[in-house]
Amino acid sequence: MLICFQNLIIAQKYKFIFEFKIIVSMQKIAFVDRDGVINDDTGHYYVYNVEDVKLTEGLISAFKLLDDAGYKIVIVTNQGGIAKGIYTNKEVELIHSNLCKLLKQQGIQEPELYYCPHHESVELCLCKKPQGLLLSKALARFRADNELSFMIGDRETDLKAAEDAGIRGYKVETNKGILSLVKQIVLA
Ligand SMILES: [Mg+2]
Ligand SMILES: [Zn+2]
Repeated sequence: MLICFQNLIIAQKYKFIFEFKIIVSMQKIAFVDRDGVINDDTGHYYVYNVEDVKLTEGLISAFKLLDDAGYKIVIVTNQGGIAKGIYTNKEVELIHSNLCKLLKQQGIQEPELYYCPHHESVELCLCKKPQGLLLSKALARFRADNELSFMIGDRETDLKAAEDAGIRGYKVETNKGILSLVKQIVLA
C-alpha cells in the first residue's frame, strides 16, 4: 500500500514536470517584416526618418489581434543602409521606440525588434534575410514552438527566412496591410 502511494506521488511529480515543460514550450511568435508590411515604404528605398513612417492600413488592429491571441510579436528587418552609412542603428531604434509608444497607448504589447545592420556590398553576415538566424535566435530566446509560430513578409526572402528557421511563412502584398491575413490565421 505504502509503496503504491509513493509511486503515485512520484508519478504526479513527473506529471507536473511534464505539464510544466509543455506550458513553458507553448510560447508562440508572430514574426513580422517591417518595410512594406508594418509601414508603407512607397517612394523610399530605405525608411529611416521617423516622419517617413506611415503604418499600413489595419496594422494596429492586426497587432491587437495577435496580442489577444497570445502571440509574442517580433519584427525582423534587414537594414543594410546602416552598413552603407546612410543611417545609423540609432535611427532604426528611434523608429522602433516610436512604434512601441504608439502600441502601448493602445494597450498592445511592445514588439521585439531583431534587425540585420549588414550589407553584402560592405561585409557578409549570417543574419540578413533570407537567412533564418534572427528568427532562430528569437525562437530560442522565447522558447517558442516552431509549429505555432509564423512569419509574415512581403518578399521571397521573408519566406526563405521562415523556411530556414523551420516555421510557416505567409506572403502579403507590399504596402497592403496584414489585417485580413492575421484574421485568417488567428481565427483559423
Ligand atoms: Mg519588406
Ligand atoms: Zn546581418
